[in-house]
Amino acid sequence: MNSDPFTCLCCSGALGQLLYSPALSKKLTKISAEQQAPAGFSCEAVVDRRGFVKGSLAVVGTIGALSFSATKANAQATKTRVYRNGTILTVDETFSEAEAVAIRENKILAVGEEIEVLQLAGSDAEIIDLKGKVLLPGFIDAHIHVVSGSIVAGLMDYVGMARFGTAEEVLAHLKQRATQVKPGEWIAARNFDPSVQTGPNALTFVELDAVSKDNPVFVMNASGHLAYANSKAFEVAGITEDVINPPGAEFVRGEDGKLNGVMKNQVAFQPVFQANPAMQNVNPVAALVELTQTWSKLGLTTISELALGALSSGYNDAELLFAAGRTGDLASRIRAYPFYPYDEAWDASPIHPGQGDDIVRIAGYKLVADGSNQGFTGLQREPYLGTDNYGLAYTSPEELKRLAVKRAGQGWQLAIHGNGDAGIDNVLDAVQAVKDAGTDVAKVRPRIEHCSILHDEQIVRMKDLGISASFLIGHVHFWGVAMRDEVFGEEKVELLDRAKIRELVTHCTRTLPSPTLIHCT
Ligand SMILES: [Zn+2]
Ligand SMILES: [Zn+2]
Repeated sequence: MNSDPFTCLCCSGALGQLLYSPALSKKLTKISAEQQAPAGFSCEAVVDRRGFVKGSLAVVGTIGALSFSATKANAQATKTRVYRNGTILTVDETFSEAEAVAIRENKILAVGEEIEVLQLAGSDAEIIDLKGKVLLPGFIDAHIHVVSGSIVAGLMDYVGMARFGTAEEVLAHLKQRATQVKPGEWIAARNFDPSVQTGPNALTFVELDAVSKDNPVFVMNASGHLAYANSKAFEVAGITEDVINPPGAEFVRGEDGKLNGVMKNQVAFQPVFQANPAMQNVNPVAALVELTQTWSKLGLTTISELALGALSSGYNDAELLFAAGRTGDLASRIRAYPFYPYDEAWDASPIHPGQGDDIVRIAGYKLVADGSNQGFTGLQREPYLGTDNYGLAYTSPEELKRLAVKRAGQGWQLAIHGNGDAGIDNVLDAVQAVKDAGTDVAKVRPRIEHCSILHDEQIVRMKDLGISASFLIGHVHFWGVAMRDEVFGEEKVELLDRAKIRELVTHCTRTLPSPTLIHCT
């Protein structure tokens, strides 16, 4: 595990800043201007949320015709469909199975024994034979960053731990790519993680020049705070031996004093990343549509943007989502949360809770208490293992309270990032302040994002205040050993990702680190 403290990549909005360029800015401004055409874009939809959730069905397998399309669903709204002859998982309290399910107007009409379902559906219902496949409710990923993530997914190949176990495999894959690309075309990859992928601690000119001498190669570390390039990428980006390190960033040099291709902090590698001409051709609307189409095939029918505004520093991010919605081609619903660093920009914009429609909706407001535990910036009551470092309060307790009270008072649902136990203390105090200010907390539906280190007494406070948790359960799966041995020690690590506390809080969600998208830490 890299012991350099780093920020939470996506919850800090750093990814959006990395991607932002004059060309992209122009495109977003154009989208924004089109959105403000006389027809308008803001339609308030009164929706039955439970109905949507129930109406979203995923079929595990590859029956193309059954892949759920959120947008196309409207066209099928009046038709009654009966699904039968498969394993139908209701995912109710007892995880019961049903023989058939009937859907009318995007809502479940009947679930149960086939004979009864068919009767209720009526004789003109369309019967769909599942041919033994599994049918279950669509998956909701409550915490992703789809705006920046969709652009990154289109530009950079995922080479992270969910795909390759060793650096050798990553390099073999990149070499294979080098045989497929055109002369001069960039080979860009992301999520390389030497803390879990065995092999060298960094990729230098030695490894990456062996991938290609003619094509620029750029690989971003999973933390998003380190990147590696080959000599050709430096040459194309105009990085020469006399380059001066920007403040807080570094072009790393080897023992011989020469550049070795490793770059620390995005301030250093942004010019290299942006030298890739593919950056100029990015179509953010098409990237979003493509991402939802890929993900809907995995059963994800609702996805999210938890740092809305990070790409354009404000409202143009929302315009981008609405524009994507208007194409009619989004294959998943998107729920977006305006991001607190742009608080003034939101005040000056028409954004409001519930804005949008059933496909793209502004769902809540995103605040951040602290950083990332594996980045040693999550705020702790006790210092990190073997250090005197307590982590960082990204937002001071007073400011967190002020923003929570302000936004909850305006009717926003609150999603507050909290990783360390002291960070979560600050979140709990902020929600208490919302309550003390006279706002009905039940309507605010506060949620702690990640909610990583939890003490029993904090769980009790969460229950009393009606706060739910959104766990990033991949912490345990991917970083459990490192969290125990390098971050927290044996005792405190027991408090990590207590996802079995379901009975103690109103509800909790579990977010899986997607193999195809840079995710929060
Ligand atoms: Zn995040
Ligand atoms: Zn976060």
